[in-house]
Amino acid sequence: MLKTLTFLMLMLIVFAPVAQAADFDNDLTTYYEKSNFLETPRYDETVAFCKLLEAESPFVKYTSFGITPQGRELPLLIVDKSESFAPPTDDRIVLLVIACIHPGESDGKDAGLVLIRDLIRDDSLTKQFDDVVLLFIPIFNVDGHERFGPYNRINQNGPLEMGFRVTAQGYNLNRDFLKADSPEMRAWLKLFREWLPDFFIDCHVTDGADYQYTITYGLETHENMPEPIRSWTNDRFLPKLNSTMEQSGFPIVPYVVTRDYLHISNGIIGLLWAPRYSTGYGAVQNRPALLVETHMLKDFRTRVEGTRILLHEIITILSDQRAELKDAAMVADARVSEMIPGSYYYTNYKRAKDTTSFIDFLGVDVTTEPSDISGDEWVIWGDTPVTYRVPYLDTYAPVDSALIPYAYIIPVEWTEETDLLKAHGVDIEYLDCAQTLPVDSYRFDDIEWADKPWESRHRLEFSMTDVSTMRELPDNSAVVLMNQRSNQVIVHLLEPKAPDSFIRWGFFNRIYSRKEYFEDYVMEKMARQMIEETPDLRIEFDSLLQADSAFAASPQQRLEFFYERTQYADSTVGVYPVGKLMSPADIKLK
Ligand SMILES: [Zn+2]
Repeated sequence: MLKTLTFLMLMLIVFAPVAQAADFDNDLTTYYEKSNFLETPRYDETVAFCKLLEAESPFVKYTSFGITPQGRELPLLIVDKSESFAPPTDDRIVLLVIACIHPGESDGKDAGLVLIRDLIRDDSLTKQFDDVVLLFIPIFNVDGHERFGPYNRINQNGPLEMGFRVTAQGYNLNRDFLKADSPEMRAWLKLFREWLPDFFIDCHVTDGADYQYTITYGLETHENMPEPIRSWTNDRFLPKLNSTMEQSGFPIVPYVVTRDYLHISNGIIGLLWAPRYSTGYGAVQNRPALLVETHMLKDFRTRVEGTRILLHEIITILSDQRAELKDAAMVADARVSEMIPGSYYYTNYKRAKDTTSFIDFLGVDVTTEPSDISGDEWVIWGDTPVTYRVPYLDTYAPVDSALIPYAYIIPVEWTEETDLLKAHGVDIEYLDCAQTLPVDSYRFDDIEWADKPWESRHRLEFSMTDVSTMRELPDNSAVVLMNQRSNQVIVHLLEPKAPDSFIRWGFFNRIYSRKEYFEDYVMEKMARQMIEETPDLRIEFDSLLQADSAFAASPQQRLEFFYERTQYADSTVGVYPVGKLMSPADIKLK
């Protein structure tokens, strides 16, 4: 905290004269600039400035992409030189930039507004928009943003006041990309579906260790990102971004997760993101998604300036590499849509132990001393730059896979799940009549719910076994053909083992419990009758009594033995309602 105050005082001394000298048209000076680079605007002021930008340039349109639970418009600025403000039909790149998904981390909002203002007012810079259509969301979590105050980010060095992390309904939007429980995310998915951006950026401020970098980033570079997007990211985009940012005085490094906080030389972990996060969602939509994390201890102005330069460099790179990126996205979409029924898709990965590369990490010195407050070691970051040679632990191996079907079939009554698939841009066909079809599916056992809800849901662990049956499917049941560019989204929602599947988030919680129970005295009578009709049952029962003392000691289990063998036992308990059709069979579609 002391360190934060020192930073703020230094900033006042160093930057005050610069702001006075700045030569901005009063109308288009941003709130952040007028505040001497210390403050970020509230929602109303942000929208008002967006409308000023719209009035300033024919290339800019202010619009809204939805309404929040508290009734505010979700703001969107579109910068489109063709002035059509609709998804382009030519070969221009669509770049989507999200700011304030975590409203306390406002750098992207202030950087974006300054950047767009500068680009549209300078003819030489406006060229950047010849090849790029920019969609800019200055505040994604609008209601959370208006929970405004000085105490929302304990580790962060400015702005003076800021919004709060979660929505008014308590959702962390950067956990909600796939399950999309929040109205804000549903609205965003509609925007994503309509525009299908070629690249998207999600702007944050980090927590964690201290080091020299102002900007760290996350970007899927692993096997979960389909080719050739992965190669374009690794071989073309990242090398260029690294070198231009270094030249700009803002060297970048992958999002810093240390294996050991105090001994950074032990390694930095490269992350592979589940699709609940923006980065992982990009991967399942075959699109690069860049997480930007500015460093919390750097002053607000430095962070905003770093973000502004980064966004500008990315517009330039995307403009230069537009043909390659467009091509890569098209090929990736085609390859994903051509998954072969009967082949395997990797749903889960685990970090492998081996190190494949080292990076020179621009850190600072660090010491510890005993703390009489915590009773533990107190980590004290110094001001001396230290370059550490650090293993980059970035190798992943698949640990779970799913067999790709010809189609998934979701019975007509499971509308919530079908609607969510549609929200992600998945095409749904429908059965033309009630049909009995051969489907593969799963039976779940050993189900354990988390003790506490997380993001409003009790996630669950389970074991599962394959079941193959003829299943009666009602008319109008949803048929999800596996020939879509969104095939990965389908698998990630419908395959239970995937990290953010419907099953994992508890969407199908109604299937696990039995709904009818026998009275013991009824079962006693029925058991005797069953033994009389099938004498072998007595032999099976007796041998189980001999072999299993727990069973023998449990009156309930002994009666259950017989119940499970009656026709009253409900065979659907714990069985996944979603079926997998492995071949077209004689399926009749509307
Ligand atoms: Zn964040």
